[in-house]
Amino acid sequence: MPDTTVIPFNRPYVAGAEEEYLGRAMAGGALEGDGPFTRRANTLIAELIGASSVLLTTSCTHALEMSALLLGIAPGDEVIMPSFTFVSTATAFALRGAVPVFADCRPDTLNLDERLIEAAITDRTRAIVVMHYAGVACEMDAIMAVAARYGLAVVEDNAHGLCARYRGRALGSFGAMATQSFHATKNVQCGEGGALVMNAPGLVERAEIIREKGTNRAQFFRGMVDKYRWIDIGSSYLPSDLLAAFLVAQLEAIDDIQARRHRIWAAYDKWVADWAGERGVRRPTVPADRDHPAHLYYLLLPDLAHRQAFLRHLGERGVRAAFHYQPLHTTPGGLRYGREAPGGCPVTEDVADRLVRLPLFAAMSDDELGRIVEAVISY
Ligand SMILES: *Cc1c(COP(=O)(O)O)cnc(C)c1O
Repeated sequence: MPDTTVIPFNRPYVAGAEEEYLGRAMAGGALEGDGPFTRRANTLIAELIGASSVLLTTSCTHALEMSALLLGIAPGDEVIMPSFTFVSTATAFALRGAVPVFADCRPDTLNLDERLIEAAITDRTRAIVVMHYAGVACEMDAIMAVAARYGLAVVEDNAHGLCARYRGRALGSFGAMATQSFHATKNVQCGEGGALVMNAPGLVERAEIIREKGTNRAQFFRGMVDKYRWIDIGSSYLPSDLLAAFLVAQLEAIDDIQARRHRIWAAYDKWVADWAGERGVRRPTVPADRDHPAHLYYLLLPDLAHRQAFLRHLGERGVRAAFHYQPLHTTPGGLRYGREAPGGCPVTEDVADRLVRLPLFAAMSDDELGRIVEAVISY
């Protein structure tokens, strides 16, 4: 009898020091945000990316909302973004009354197609939001050039791209701002969490106010003002130091986590190569000038019918694989709040129907890895 014990799509990894750090945070008695673990997490993330300032947030979604507030995005503004991304990329800007303008993705990396940006720009365009799918960088030189030419801000939704590089430079360091996610499904996680990365100068003071309910409480705690008051609009985007304690344990183990993930990614890519080549299945494209972070491993099946049959085939063998983003321009929210860029999004619609993600988590056993590969190549 073959083993059909279920292999989950994701099994959150515990690096080792989480319990000890949680205990230390509890013993310290102060569980609110911006405690010692929050500050340590900010520093570790800033070092990884080479950013000047990082603020831990309650999620990547909230970091995106902060970026929209910091850019002063207002009703009627337009923000160019891919259709093939997570919903938060769009909702953060729609919340400010902006119109997400959905552009198509490239057929190779599945990232926002930089050649379509210029035609999507109008006199209402304020920003370009890029998302590095699977942590494989967008064409950042071309994107930064078009943004500079039109005076547009660039925000990187870098939820997939921690530890990834484009021409030697860390993702998250290109845009005026970038956002990270530490959701349980990401490489480094604390269940729910995120960070706002700031690269442009002059953002951090207002970011601290926005993150602390619109008050200058952060300055008050540093003794810079004698009382704290309502200064600006804002919300509660500051996570508990308990979450930061868990996250610090993960960030300190990042080399181990990344090595484990790369091993699985490379094994998939090697062992499914012949099978994929013979059946017209496409493996991930990683251009030579970028380093990916082994965030996810996907396959593009020849068509929707094969994709559905392949998911069923894996499911019958206990392998929980998954499809991915529903094109945002086709969703009820996308239709109501956004619009398509000129030319529409035919590539996005096509790949969304054909994509399958294989399980990829740091604690995967060799036995599980072997069973997944076997399940794939027996289709
Ligand atoms: C996970 C993810 C988010 C949302 O992250 P949260 O921390 O759950 O808010 C946003 N964008 C992308 C591309 C993601 O993958």
